[in-house]
Amino acid sequence: MQENRFKEALLNPSVFPVTWELVPGRGAREAAQDKALDLARQAISNSHIYALTLTDNPGGTPAMSADFMGSEIVRLGIEPLVHFTCKDKNRNAMESSLYALDRAGVRNLLVMSGDYPVSGYQGRPAPVFDLDPIHVLQLISEMNKGLEYPGMKGTTRHQPADFFAGAVVSPFKATEAEQIIQYSKLKKKIEAGAQFIVTQLGYDARKFHEVLLYMKQNGFSIPLIGNIYILPFGAAKMMNRNDLPGSVVTDKLLADLDHEKNAPDKGQGARILRAARMYAILKGMGFSGVHIGGHNIKYEQVDAIVEIGESLTSQWKDLVQYFDYPIEGGFYYYEKDPETGLNREAPVKLEDQLPDVKIGCSYAFSRFFHRFMYKPGKNLYGFMKGLCGKIQGTIMEGPFHKMEHLTKAVLFDCRDCGDCALIDVAYLCPMSQCPKNQRNGACGGSYKGWCEVYPGKRPCVYVRAYARLKKYGEEGQLSGEIVPPCNWDLYQTSSWINYYQGKDHTSQKFSNKPS
Ligand code: SF4
Repeated sequence: MQENRFKEALLNPSVFPVTWELVPGRGAREAAQDKALDLARQAISNSHIYALTLTDNPGGTPAMSADFMGSEIVRLGIEPLVHFTCKDKNRNAMESSLYALDRAGVRNLLVMSGDYPVSGYQGRPAPVFDLDPIHVLQLISEMNKGLEYPGMKGTTRHQPADFFAGAVVSPFKATEAEQIIQYSKLKKKIEAGAQFIVTQLGYDARKFHEVLLYMKQNGFSIPLIGNIYILPFGAAKMMNRNDLPGSVVTDKLLADLDHEKNAPDKGQGARILRAARMYAILKGMGFSGVHIGGHNIKYEQVDAIVEIGESLTSQWKDLVQYFDYPIEGGFYYYEKDPETGLNREAPVKLEDQLPDVKIGCSYAFSRFFHRFMYKPGKNLYGFMKGLCGKIQGTIMEGPFHKMEHLTKAVLFDCRDCGDCALIDVAYLCPMSQCPKNQRNGACGGSYKGWCEVYPGKRPCVYVRAYARLKKYGEEGQLSGEIVPPCNWDLYQTSSWINYYQGKDHTSQKFSNKPS
């Protein structure tokens, strides 16, 4: 197989690769697609740029397929890094895309949940989120080994693929719950096979240092790429308003940009200098590479950032002061080091922090009920298992299922998926309480504890789950076992029967045997 220059560079500690983000835009033969390919041609000559990143329907709006643009860019002779998101494709469509990418020689992928779909032809599209990024990383890992699945004549095994897949983490979260959830999910992403990590968007040097330190202390020895977005005032205003979920621009940074835009060059020089300083800090701090993005960026600007950034790297510690943009009252995992403006190696004491949301008494009830009914070998477990065994397949199954669904709809807003994940999310239903149906931790879009899709109205389901679990000292559960995707074979069937008869994912965990 042909050498993957991006992978080789990222895994080589003496190389500091740059990736540059291109936006394929909406349309097929429009200016946006031609421009993206023109920029790609220019990037080939730059010895620092090892890959071109291609966004996948960014902002939840339709655009030219990143997969297809990736195959065009491979033909130009430079590695693409294709954003691979879960929002618009179910698991089969994703597997198909992976086959097409493999065949086209597109190997570098950045796996994400993706922005919640916002607009499309004749209205808002259906959000898919059949798999989460952890499941996609597992699928890719299996494809890299040679995917096996049952066929007509026994197990079929494919030729191994050669994907180099990464995932994203945000260290820029405002609350303890959000931040710990991000780091818990990071652990699962790495266990699922992430081969590198890219940070989300923010401008707080202490937070960049935090994730680097966290990865080191937890033995996550895969490359970490820092995200540099060339920030104009207009985009900053949107990020500050949380119109671009997951990107953090504080009021102080916005005020600085407001001032800079009055310069004769409308703040362009300041933008490039800020990006170059970030480059220097990230390189000096120990990141493995950087990802440069921005709206309508010219090749010359990327080139200037790299050149100035390289020249500033030796003074990176002096530049930390320019990235002192904490979220007001925001959470940090480590204590501050006043000398460097970064972090000490000691984590803050989490037990001293107050929970971010109210817990209510329903959680205690759910825990009690669960122990009473579902714990193998305890209380009503044997009775329920026997009852479900008798009811299954009889005319009583329908009324039994209806009674169960009604109870769970009232208590948990149950969506009748039949593969119940209440136990995985502290008795909160990810099918109804999370618009992205995340079963393994929060997406990157939460904002000050609120859900990306309902900011100011609904807390992120994982923020609630964290508060519930922490009350019992069980928050470590969020970084524990990977929860498999929902099995749609069980849709609109009794989750109780599925559990006691060993058909759902929870019973597989407890090794339930049908009676
Ligand atoms: S509930 Fe949390 S994980 Fe789900 S979409 Fe909202 S922010 Fe993302």
